[in-house]
Amino acid sequence: MDYRVLLYYNYTTIEDPEAFAKEHLAFCRALDIKGRILVAPEGINGTLSGTKEATEQYMAAMLADERFKDTYFKSDESEAHAFKKLFVRPRTELVALNLEEDIDPRQMTGNYLEPQAFREALLAEDTVVIDARNDYEYDLGHFRGAIRPEIHNFRELPEWIRENKEQFMDKKIVTYCTGGIRCEKFSGWLLREGFEDVAQLHGGIAAYGKDEATQGELWDGKMYVFDERISVEINQVDKKVIGKEWFDGTPCERYINCSNPECNRQMLVSEENEEKYLGACSIACAKKSDNRYLKKHHITPEERDACVALIEK
Ligand SMILES: [Zn+2]
Repeated sequence: MDYRVLLYYNYTTIEDPEAFAKEHLAFCRALDIKGRILVAPEGINGTLSGTKEATEQYMAAMLADERFKDTYFKSDESEAHAFKKLFVRPRTELVALNLEEDIDPRQMTGNYLEPQAFREALLAEDTVVIDARNDYEYDLGHFRGAIRPEIHNFRELPEWIRENKEQFMDKKIVTYCTGGIRCEKFSGWLLREGFEDVAQLHGGIAAYGKDEATQGELWDGKMYVFDERISVEINQVDKKVIGKEWFDGTPCERYINCSNPECNRQMLVSEENEEKYLGACSIACAKKSDNRYLKKHHITPEERDACVALIEK
């Protein structure tokens, strides 16, 4: 375990995101850091990997900068880089909620709950816990009893809340996401919408999984992450698999993308069914001539037709 994967964000003013991104890219390259870092006038958000020494240097340099001195880094050990490339990109905002009027979490955000207080909230009767992530993230793993908004993208969340308002009125609301950055804005938006008692899991699921007292308890499944690991363990107490295999519904935690490049659907598929269905989500996708699985495994059109005939049986 010579590498580390870092996850962090900081809502802070960055005057010239473009100039900053350029400089930061050179700095990361010099350290052989890989990953994805977004820079906006409202702050910075990064998920990156590097050797232990490189990530130490990275964190030290960030914390020495007045703008980022209170950054909270979530860190995982790793055997290798978790990213193939490095992107440092200027953006107009860090997370997009599609709001007519944006939220500045430094002005308005929900109360922070540390992991132990969050665990109590999970068990409290007068509290609703809302998962502020996308549906495919929820389906691989989530907190026991958490609400799964029917959305495919974070930006659809405000509209979904408005449509389902009755569920949450007169209740305490607690939100959570992977590292906490989405909830900073989302919980602020809930307050502006008129919900009075709004809190968020500080540091997100990533921090909860590392907390010595909770040890990830009441989390089911795995946590989806946006790097090559795809998912990580959270619950160290009583782990349960909740992901369901795309074709047969059996317990599964193995994400692949449909091998038809035009489809690219993300789905949980067993090794056996990946082979059987040529890495595709459907017969139509398996039949595509530019199917990536065919290329990767040197499968001829005749062999493909034989496979498809078998599935169709
Ligand atoms: Zn497909």
